[in-house]
Amino acid sequence: MPQAVKDIPAVDFDKIRKDFSVLNQTVNGQPLVYLDNAASSQMPKQVADRMDHYHRHEHANVHRGIHTLSQKATDAYEEARTKVQELIHADHEYEVIYTTGTTDSLNLVANSYGLENLSKGDEIILTEMEHHANIVPWQMIAKKTGAIIKVIPVTDSGELDLEAYKDLITSSTKIVSVVHVSNALGTMNPIKKIGEIAHENGAVLVVDGAQAVPHQAVDVQDIDADFYAFSAHKMCGPTGFGILYGKKKLLDAMPPYRGGGDMIDKVSFEETTFNVVPFRFEAGTPPISAAVGFSAALDYLNDIGMDQIETREHELVNYAVERVTKIDGLKLVGNSANRASVVSFVFDDIHASDLGMILDKRGIAVRTGHHCAQPVLRRFGVPATTRASLSFYNTKDDIDRLVDGIEYAKTFFE
Ligand code: PLP
Repeated sequence: MPQAVKDIPAVDFDKIRKDFSVLNQTVNGQPLVYLDNAASSQMPKQVADRMDHYHRHEHANVHRGIHTLSQKATDAYEEARTKVQELIHADHEYEVIYTTGTTDSLNLVANSYGLENLSKGDEIILTEMEHHANIVPWQMIAKKTGAIIKVIPVTDSGELDLEAYKDLITSSTKIVSVVHVSNALGTMNPIKKIGEIAHENGAVLVVDGAQAVPHQAVDVQDIDADFYAFSAHKMCGPTGFGILYGKKKLLDAMPPYRGGGDMIDKVSFEETTFNVVPFRFEAGTPPISAAVGFSAALDYLNDIGMDQIETREHELVNYAVERVTKIDGLKLVGNSANRASVVSFVFDDIHASDLGMILDKRGIAVRTGHHCAQPVLRRFGVPATTRASLSFYNTKDDIDRLVDGIEYAKTFFE
């Protein structure tokens, strides 16, 4: 079911699209239609230029240098922390830990908080729609600690079965780790409600926000998330950079995950003491230019406005759902009333990878496969889907091209 569209914002998205030079090219002789934003979004000129400037004029290692260039690099690097704090409404900037991405963030929580706080018989609740990044780290920790993994099932429309969740959770549940927006189905989960139930039962709430933060305003304090993870490359920033938000009182009590430079206070062969958060979790030379680029990406997104981005993308995704559901034989996989930016579908007689290849020949980039979410595809009895994922710089014309491409592909299978 498409959602209601809010008022159209006064933002010139046609002008904004011109910032993304990568979109202005032909692929296989056709103008590119980029609909793989859930895998990685494109980078605007402003971000690429900022990273280029950093490399040409500001580069030095951070934190450890007394010289001016190092201090300049440190300032540029640390700037992103304050911007992330503001973006997600964290209480303190030291609740913002730099990681290499959502996967790294979730591994950090599992290996530090999980290993420290789980023991035999404790429960970790996940959902059937998790990305592998929010399954495998917990399985590895469960194996080490003897903890048990329980899974909230998904309904036929691709939503979480909250009644089943209430039945699953017990006083032994220590961690509830849930995706905010599913990359495979597009479902936007009622994360605040899920957190309330977790907290009533004494568990902490870990949120995989990889597909949420790029598309809507997120307030970690309002959600009352204990941990919240996301990646820069899905929100106009560079690859190799991400964030783990954690509540200070939890982070303060957590042991380091990786050892090395920058994360220590004093080192001797007898004993090492550790730095304060967030640095305790940031061992070694970090991806400095990526932090600088992410800082520019956040400026870029803030200039547009997260509310405007959300409104624009709702309009596009509603249009996409409306158009593709008219295609004969197409079945949506995931049809939640609360959908964000992703449309996933299958045909009985056309394999997703065949469809993806034919679309690519027409310059249309979609993702096909299991989207690193094999359990939920198994739940729907399909090995693969075709997924179109949108960003604010997409247009209705992109969606029309997708629909024409699918209709064309179908003629090969008649
Ligand atoms: N979680 C979700 C929901 C995702 O969509 C992704 C990436 O597609 C990830 C986690 C992993 O993100 P990354 O590869 O940036 O670590």
